[in-house]
Amino acid sequence: DPNIEMTPTGDDVSFDEYLRPRRFEEFVGQRAIKDNLRVMVKSAKMRQAPLDHILFSGPPGLGKTSMAQILAEEMGVNIHITSGPALEKKGDLAGILTSLEKGEILFIDEVHRLSPVVEENLYPAMEDFYFDIVIGEGPHARNMKLTLPPFTLVGATTRSGLLTAPMRDRFGYVARLDYYDADDLKSVLQRSARILDIGLSERGAFEIARRSRGTPRIANRLLNRVRDYAVVGNHSTIDDELADYALERLEVDSAGFDYLDRLYLDALVVKFGGGPTGLDTLASSIGEARHTIEEVIEPYLLQQGFIQRTPRGRVASASAFRHLGVPINSGNQN
Ligand code: ADP
Repeated sequence: DPNIEMTPTGDDVSFDEYLRPRRFEEFVGQRAIKDNLRVMVKSAKMRQAPLDHILFSGPPGLGKTSMAQILAEEMGVNIHITSGPALEKKGDLAGILTSLEKGEILFIDEVHRLSPVVEENLYPAMEDFYFDIVIGEGPHARNMKLTLPPFTLVGATTRSGLLTAPMRDRFGYVARLDYYDADDLKSVLQRSARILDIGLSERGAFEIARRSRGTPRIANRLLNRVRDYAVVGNHSTIDDELADYALERLEVDSAGFDYLDRLYLDALVVKFGGGPTGLDTLASSIGEARHTIEEVIEPYLLQQGFIQRTPRGRVASASAFRHLGVPINSGNQN
């Protein structure tokens, strides 16, 4: 495996690659999904058929890409990786579909961002393995059906609700990845520490785990940063005290919220008195794009019960006020 040779450079992409689980056994947590996928893989292999199309949904960094790569590894097939925005034109899709061989996996990240024309042309490819092409122009144009080898489409999206219904219906299995609990994240960190040869105590792992916003990618990044403090401070092992010290300095607070989370909460709680506040108002107030707020910042705050989405806008809960140490103003009760 060529990736085993890679050394982490600190660069985020190769760091992710380096720590990526390769097999089902290495993929921590998400037990129900893993069990279902194991059965699907086994059945497909016994039938000598390609895997059915699979959709992974969930916030960034929860293992969607890793799982797609594991499926390829377990099936023993190649995986071709692209993304919704990269497939701009029908020709881009034709190019990648015709390069596939029987049983191979096409992974489309951000599959909710496909253009309508690309999406429409993907339907017959997914359903009946053909692609409509037009030969010639004007009055001499002719439609032709190009037969494709049976393949597996694995899609990833931050929220399955962002997909059109016809697109969603064409996946044989939709797996919703959830935030990881602290115990699972602890296992992720212990595995990473072994791979990176970092000394990490049980309590040190737990301290980083509970402040990683339920997200393996964040846990690994924080481990990497805390490691810097260990190296510079001449500590051979990261314990909970060192983890706490380093995370304080990295501006990751006790709830695991980072700078951006607090900027958001601060705006909603202090500036807008707890809401309800519209998404656009919040976005311009903190200078972030709508989709960053909806897909990166809010899901974890929602899951933790710090905010609510209401028809009139975002509303901060009592725990948000408490977390910021702001008394709930009688004029702004929700
Ligand atoms: P997504 O595609 O959902 O954004 P990735 O699959 O790229 O997430 O995961 C980001 C990184 O987090 C991976 O490189 C891997 O190091 C780590 N990771 C994610 N899920 C797991 C898991 N279940 N077990 C171990 N590591 C994981």
